[in-house]
Amino acid sequence: MSWHPFERGKSYAVSRIVPILLEHLESGGVKDVRDKTRLVGLLEPYLHDYALFQPHSTGWGASPYNLSTWKKEDGSKLVANYNTERKRKGFSPKVRLQVIAKTGGYCYSCGEKFSKPSDVWIEHIIPFSVGGSDEVENLLPGCRLCNWTRRNNTPHQIQRMLSVGPWPCAKSIRTQN
Ligand SMILES: [Zn+2]
Repeated sequence: MSWHPFERGKSYAVSRIVPILLEHLESGGVKDVRDKTRLVGLLEPYLHDYALFQPHSTGWGASPYNLSTWKKEDGSKLVANYNTERKRKGFSPKVRLQVIAKTGGYCYSCGEKFSKPSDVWIEHIIPFSVGGSDEVENLLPGCRLCNWTRRNNTPHQIQRMLSVGPWPCAKSIRTQN
């Protein structure tokens, strides 16, 4: 018995696939939640599309979180090249300064002033994982809490954050820990 309703060779609206995968992540008992959340996020540009479920073995090869199990009607991958790992590299001090200067030394998200250089997390506007560049135009300076808050949230939680504002959410995360 599988935890999900997807059948081999059948077509599903991506807008239906995503909530099923997210609900399963939120159910607990799932390994590598963070990485799987990232993978589900890569489906978001395809919410108006349909995808065929084509598992190619058992285990991870048959997991709907494995994006290579989702194909377009012509048999090509729904999400191309998601797995070809570009190397993440550190940013040079010069680039860091240029990025920090874009906001005048404040977190782009919550507006908090950076008190020391190690507070600054360089973030991609178009995510690195979907091909966003390492150029200064695609980078913004964020604080550790904002970076951490974003990274560890599902898209549903981000939606909640956008509706009530990041501060109450960040506060409830702080008190949980
Ligand atoms: Zn911040």
